[in-house]
Amino acid sequence: MGKVWFVGAGPGAPDMITVRGARLLAEADAILYTGSLVAETVLQWAKPECDIADSKTMDLAQVTAWLLERAQRHAQVVRLQTGDPTLYGVVAELARPLDAAGIAVGIVSGVSSAMAAAAAAGECLTLPEITQTVIFTRLSERTQMPETESFASLAAHGCTLCIFLSIERIDAVVTQLIAAGWAETAPVVIVHKATWPDEIVLRGTLTDIAAQCRAAQIDRQALILVSPALGARFRASNTTSKLYDAAFPRRFRPAQPTTDN
Ligand code: SAH
Repeated sequence: MGKVWFVGAGPGAPDMITVRGARLLAEADAILYTGSLVAETVLQWAKPECDIADSKTMDLAQVTAWLLERAQRHAQVVRLQTGDPTLYGVVAELARPLDAAGIAVGIVSGVSSAMAAAAAAGECLTLPEITQTVIFTRLSERTQMPETESFASLAAHGCTLCIFLSIERIDAVVTQLIAAGWAETAPVVIVHKATWPDEIVLRGTLTDIAAQCRAAQIDRQALILVSPALGARFRASNTTSKLYDAAFPRRFRPAQPTTDN
């Protein structure tokens, strides 16, 4: 019996997959990819005779059945998922029947669209003294949110929010952020199809971002970034990170005495 690898394809561009992920694609006898989200150009790493299928029209049971059947015939089977497979990737649900059948399973990280979106916009998700916490979340829809993770309660922290799977409800995102205490002038960045050839980056405030999305016809495959760190590069004064402060002891560098102590 073979092994099934859950591989992160990264956000879209074929050179954003990890070296390990590309190697596994090149070795794979069978690849099942999420056609609605994974760019087909990533499949350029596969060998010509590889058995490749798109799971776009398959349900969870059909995906599992496909992986199980291929793993019984082949040495290396890849389930290729968008971004990083451990985020919103239903890996646990897919791996459970494979585990039960005694098939080995491995996971290979990918660059999440949250990271790719920040990079596309030239932004950082953390900023010294301003925000040191990032929340990956989504609005509840068909997938119910756990009671302790209501969007309102998460938004109330005022830290960086990377909001997945919610662009089609941008109006509700804005309303709930304002209700949670964010200023109407708070900056928002939307990145549609980060790293794809048709990538779009929108910058706005809570007041105008929904209208911008409508004007650009962005209603899917977009990441919403809300953070007090947005635009920090373009502001005059920034607190310098303690990481670069010579007086701050670090594990591999003893603290240096500063001139005034
Ligand atoms: N595992 C993926 C997320 C899958 S959920 C990851 O780590 O990125 C699908 C959601 O991810 C989409 O609704 C969208 O919010 C986001 N997404 C995926 N690819 C994207 C891309 N290239 N650009 C912007 N957002 C993307």
